Amino acid sequence: MKYLVTDDSKMARKMLIKSLKELITNDIEIIEATNGQEAVELYKLHQPHICFMDLTMPVMDGFDAVKTICLYDNKAKVIVVSADIQDGSKQKARENGAIGFIKKPINAENLSTMLTQLELS
Ligand SMILES: [Mg+2]
Repeated sequence: MKYLVTDDSKMARKMLIKSLKELITNDIEIIEATNGQEAVELYKLHQPHICFMDLTMPVMDGFDAVKTICLYDNKAKVIVVSADIQDGSKQKARENGAIGFIKKPINAENLSTMLTQLELS
């Protein structure tokens, strides 16, 4: 499985990758993007199975990146990972095509709950 991890914070990417590796023991390939623009480019290049997306990022934010990716691939599986848990933000992310939302900080437990809920684990 290929995962695209998008966050402008290196620490946040690290935590997500650590959680993924704790949960998934099979062969996994992880691609990292540091903003929405990079995520869109890397999505098209690698066609990852699951994409994790921060919201607040420079160049292109997560809302626009989710929208662009989901317009490009209507089967894209994008999960937003953000500290911004306002209902409006969750709703906007969902309208743009995100299939799930995880509140930061991420850990193996909340990641596992989400993947199980989405039947992606
Ligand atoms: Mg950020």
